[in-house]
Amino acid sequence: MARIVIAGDFGGTNLRAALVTETGEILVRHEVSTTPDASPDGALEGIGDLLMKVRDYGSELPVAASLAVAGLIDGENGRVLASPNIPAFRNLGLTLPLSERLGIPVLIANDASAAALGEFRFGAGQGTRHLLHATLGTGIGGGIVIDGRLYKGTQGLAGELGHIVLDTDGPPCGCGSRGCLEAMAGGIALGRRAQRLVESGGAPILAEIASGRSATAGDLAEAARRGEVAAIAEIREGGHIIGIGLGSIINVLNPDVVTLSGGLLGMGDFLLDPLRAGLASLAFGPAANTPVRISTLGADAGLLGAAAVALAK
Ligand code: ADP
Ligand code: MG
Ligand code: ZN
Repeated sequence: MARIVIAGDFGGTNLRAALVTETGEILVRHEVSTTPDASPDGALEGIGDLLMKVRDYGSELPVAASLAVAGLIDGENGRVLASPNIPAFRNLGLTLPLSERLGIPVLIANDASAAALGEFRFGAGQGTRHLLHATLGTGIGGGIVIDGRLYKGTQGLAGELGHIVLDTDGPPCGCGSRGCLEAMAGGIALGRRAQRLVESGGAPILAEIASGRSATAGDLAEAARRGEVAAIAEIREGGHIIGIGLGSIINVLNPDVVTLSGGLLGMGDFLLDPLRAGLASLAFGPAANTPVRISTLGADAGLLGAAAVALAK
């Protein structure tokens, strides 16, 4: 009998849950908005309600539930240590109360780690053995699959590739360091670069797009598409930096493939061309040819990643 699992994707905007089959088919999905001011108990109850709704959709009981959560996750003990988007998730044990309510085992994993396993099992990394996945969104996250298994590290912190340091004198990062890859080329960082460009007066199209508010990474992409040379240069610089970061990690891991997901991919080849070139420029020997593939899972990446974590158990 084919196994069915419950998958959850808890981001900053939406809590989503689905019933997923072993082959990655989504049978049903539900979504509620995140309530940022919820108490821990309130948040737990809302999540439990959502998961119960999904659980009771099918006639057969899912074998497990797995939740992909943005933040620092202690998967071993089923705790969220900290989640930037969901303040109630602070040193909160999630799996025990949820598992009692659902009557099945509940797992949690960092969302980028789950995404790596999702790409490996269902997406752009199918058929490979070793995979490096990078999420290029508000921040930069990642996950590592080695020999078909998620590499978690001693404390489950492995894959935080947004926090490799490229410039010790660089901009401060949310993690407390300076010059992290994320602080230099993540979505917030590119938004800051965009805003600086507007203030310099050298990017009239961008200024028009962002008029009346702070410019974002998305605005930068739009200005580039409209042909603004300064915006294109800024994106290319970001892509180069990300490529340097990924190329450095390739020299450590020598994966079969690098897969990418996240909102910054909306910058298209403006970002990807220099990213690929930067990566190839410093990866050793044949590793310079490591394929860089875009996620094929789209908006379901989080859910399918969570499902992959449950199915790997
Ligand atoms: P997260 O999962 O971290 O919330 P996303 O993967 O949704 O983030 O990406 C959000 C980031 O992508 C923001 O920095 C936003 O400005 C940027 N973004 C949104 N749309 C686009 C676009 N079309 N092109 C480039 N960047 C975009
Ligand atoms: Mg996300
Ligand atoms: Zn950092």
